[in-house]
Amino acid sequence: MIKFVDLKAQYESIQDEIGEAIQRVLDSCGFTLGREVAAFEEEFADYCGVKHAIGVNSGTSALHLALLAAGVGHGDEVITVPMTFIATAAAIGYTGARPVFVDVDPRFYTMDPAGIEASITDKSKAIVVVHLYGQPADMDPIREIARRRNLLLIEDAAQAHGARYKGRPAGSLSDMGCFSFYPGKNLGAYGEGGMVVTDDPGFARTIRMLRDWGTETKYHHELKGFNYRMEGFQGAVLRVKLRRLDMWVDARLSHAARYSERLAAGDLIVPEVMPDVRHAFHIYALRSPRRNHLQEALQEKGIQTGLHYPIPVHLQKAWAELGHRRGDFPVSERIADEELSLPMFPELTDEQIDMVCEALVQASGEAG
Ligand SMILES: *Cc1c(COP(=O)(O)O)cnc(C)c1O
Repeated sequence: MIKFVDLKAQYESIQDEIGEAIQRVLDSCGFTLGREVAAFEEEFADYCGVKHAIGVNSGTSALHLALLAAGVGHGDEVITVPMTFIATAAAIGYTGARPVFVDVDPRFYTMDPAGIEASITDKSKAIVVVHLYGQPADMDPIREIARRRNLLLIEDAAQAHGARYKGRPAGSLSDMGCFSFYPGKNLGAYGEGGMVVTDDPGFARTIRMLRDWGTETKYHHELKGFNYRMEGFQGAVLRVKLRRLDMWVDARLSHAARYSERLAAGDLIVPEVMPDVRHAFHIYALRSPRRNHLQEALQEKGIQTGLHYPIPVHLQKAWAELGHRRGDFPVSERIADEELSLPMFPELTDEQIDMVCEALVQASGEAG
């Protein structure tokens, strides 16, 4: 049995420190925000090389507040990709704005800069790029378009903790970077959590207020805010884990290299890494026209895999109002049909990777 993600293996490697961190929260009763969250915010801002980090209760909330701080609201359009988790579009919808999709690049699966200009209208307010599977989008051309067309630029870095683009950390490549600490992410809480990082003191102040009912002073509500506060336990746990993030991303990179070495054959398409990029390999996304057959063959051998994502956002029922149909974003649709996510977590062993590869090579040689 090989799991897709093994949270237990990681917990066991840091059990004592986690226990102490949880105990500190219990002793101080700092259950919401508090000292541990403040310290984590400082440490995570440092890690991302930015001035401000604001802890919230999920990655979705991080995106929602970043969009509100950017001034996005009813009647606006926000440019993003259909090949992402539903939360990217949902957060745009929460503000009353409408997602406008640009297809992804066929090699790297992130926003195709060449498609952006054609989707800009006088209602466009912002661009949300997604660092899909942990690989940063091609930020230089995208940033150039955003600057020239006067659009705010936001990163959905929910899958990209520890990724870098031309040496700079994911999250620091735009006006605001949004992270998720959902347990299965590269940096995962023991519950829900999220973070917005930014160099802009104005955005930081607005987001700090919005996450806590629009206040800076208790019971003085300057903005219509939310209860999006980060829990003390999550801050304490994430501080312990942040110290190991780079080591864990390095392990993911070495697992990805081992997979690719053994799988780059036949009709299997292994992930391509952009030059001068550190891919964080949240997901190792293999592609094959016979993806379903491969998934079943692996399942029979006790190997868990995932699909990220089988239906692109523009074809989801929840977004039928946008009026899209199959064929509108062919690259995203093709990835949705062919992608297979292999087991990927830092504690994965070489023996396990080799077993997955053997099963794949065998199954891809069979008639599908
Ligand atoms: C996980 C994820 C989110 C949402 O984060 P939550 O913490 O689950 O709310 C948003 N965007 C992408 C690309 C994600 O993978």
